[in-house]
Amino acid sequence: MRRIGLHFRLITTLSELLDKAYAAGSPIVQCFLIPQGASTYLEFTPEEKALCLEKSKRFGQLFLHASYWVNLAGRYKNGWKPFNRELELAKELGFTHIVIHPGSATGCLSKDDGIYYLARALNKILETEHTITIVLENTAHANKTVGGDILDFGALLKLVDNPDRIAFCLDSAHAYSYGYDLSTIDQVDEFVELVDKEIGAQRVVALHLNDAAEKCGSRIDKHAIPGQGNIGKESLQRFMNHPKLAHASVILEMPVISDQEESEIFKEVQGWDRS
Ligand SMILES: [Zn+2]
Repeated sequence: MRRIGLHFRLITTLSELLDKAYAAGSPIVQCFLIPQGASTYLEFTPEEKALCLEKSKRFGQLFLHASYWVNLAGRYKNGWKPFNRELELAKELGFTHIVIHPGSATGCLSKDDGIYYLARALNKILETEHTITIVLENTAHANKTVGGDILDFGALLKLVDNPDRIAFCLDSAHAYSYGYDLSTIDQVDEFVELVDKEIGAQRVVALHLNDAAEKCGSRIDKHAIPGQGNIGKESLQRFMNHPKLAHASVILEMPVISDQEESEIFKEVQGWDRS
């Protein structure tokens, strides 16, 4: 059965979040390790860590969405520190995947240099990291931000030692905001073909099935409820059911709405699955 789940906002503790996800019937889960509105990581007692590790076993996959402090594409290694911290915590808590935005080529002359630094960082990390899957997500941004343009990932894969150990997450709202018009089925198909050519669709392990609240090419990252934004229901259905992406898990990252509304939309999107 297709794995379709929700991103949950961290409000109190991770163990409570996992209970909420379980009660909501979300077979896979994604969350941050920074509580909503906070500017520091959640603190974990050893007991809470053990509890989370136990509860994490209820889910087929547990995605940690890394914080935006992580930057592996900069010239200097200051953006590595939060990554290493989150990676260690993720493993202790039972996460199976860590989703990162590729980062920005800070301190570099061009984005290409950032892609080089990102490849160097991933090569180093993967020398010692064997338990958690590192997932790169496309972004809505341009200029020195790596990963808005899908071609950046193609260039990156040529520079990494083990391309098969790099996984990807495609966010439909980010792609659309960056400039890939996904508002028709043909355009969705074209985008998936590009992804397949550049990175290999089999490397896409997750889809962030979000609609976009802003215009195509706006480069403004504002999600809408699936089916209620500028991409629209038909295109999102095609995206999640595209034969080349049918193996990927689906995660909804919705705007802030009531739990009741969220659960109704979650059920609706589960009904879109044609697998
Ligand atoms: Zn996303």
